Amino acid sequence: MSRDQENTLTIIVPCFNEEEVLPETLKELGAILKREINNQKVSSKSKILFVNDGSKDQTWQLISEYSAKYDYVTGIKFSRNYGHQNALLAGMSVAVKYSDMMITIDADLQDDVNAIPKMVEKYFDVYDVIYGVRSSRKTDSFFKRRTALAFYSLMGKLGVNLVPDSADYRLLSKRATESLLRFKERNLFLRGMVPLVGYRSTKVYYVRKERFAGKSKYPLSKMLHFALDGITSFSIAPIHLILYLGLLTVVISIVCMVYTIVEKCLGHVVSGWSSLMISIWLLGGVQLISISVIGEYIGKIFSEVKHRPRFTIETENYTQKMKEQN
Ligand code: UDP
Ligand code: MG
Repeated sequence: MSRDQENTLTIIVPCFNEEEVLPETLKELGAILKREINNQKVSSKSKILFVNDGSKDQTWQLISEYSAKYDYVTGIKFSRNYGHQNALLAGMSVAVKYSDMMITIDADLQDDVNAIPKMVEKYFDVYDVIYGVRSSRKTDSFFKRRTALAFYSLMGKLGVNLVPDSADYRLLSKRATESLLRFKERNLFLRGMVPLVGYRSTKVYYVRKERFAGKSKYPLSKMLHFALDGITSFSIAPIHLILYLGLLTVVISIVCMVYTIVEKCLGHVVSGWSSLMISIWLLGGVQLISISVIGEYIGKIFSEVKHRPRFTIETENYTQKMKEQN
């Protein structure tokens, strides 16, 4: 082992209405964590940290119950729902003080927990960022597979460095987490931000499974919004695109103008009602799209300059448990 810290691991699990899966999640993550502790891969202070993201069901009651019962279980309770990305960030910001490595994983057991020991192994090979990458997308629908592929390829073309097929299942070292926490943006798109942190990174492959129980909290509308957020938070290429579109339209209209003047001089009667209609509609459409793209960026600026807190923690027992053990 080439790392000289205590090697405390915290597994961060965002939870939004996950009462149906939580007992199983605890069982599987608990078993893995205990094995890692017994094999002396990670310190005995290592923890599971559930982040309750304003659940409406019994999720928080379950987390409290588990934390009272098991010393390796801890929890954060948000004052309301702040979203998956904020829940991950909150978990990291609380855990980073006492933890040397942080793994984020979804609560629904879609991410294979058996990749955790492999990630820890890589951590000792002195990697700071270890991505969990899906080796297959068999469990995703055809539609989700196609759209995901299109999204990654579009992002690549826009010059945004993403690791394809990696979601928010990853291990970050303490220093990588500290660096990530210095990013102050409100519009979070962690999978775009993590590669910007730098350090040595690697991948661990796993097979993504079906959700163990409950429903996806990412319906199509939320997914689209997330993708759009990802694009506009990381690239201003759409604005450049508008410029090119505008230039192209100008060129076309100059050609049209010349043509119209020539026709007029030749004394031909221009019956151009259809061409007029077409250009009005076309230009109107182009303008509306352009304005909405610019609006998207202004909206981003608007939400960033307000500097609102990214989340509010109502209560949390991680820090206290860690203090008692130190
Ligand atoms: N989640 C969250 N807050 C939200 C939505 C989701 O903390 O507002 C959590 C959810 O409990 C789960 C993870 O984010 O642990 C991923 O959500 P989900 O499995 O529903 O997404 P999918 O896998 O379908 O993309
Ligand atoms: Mg899921």
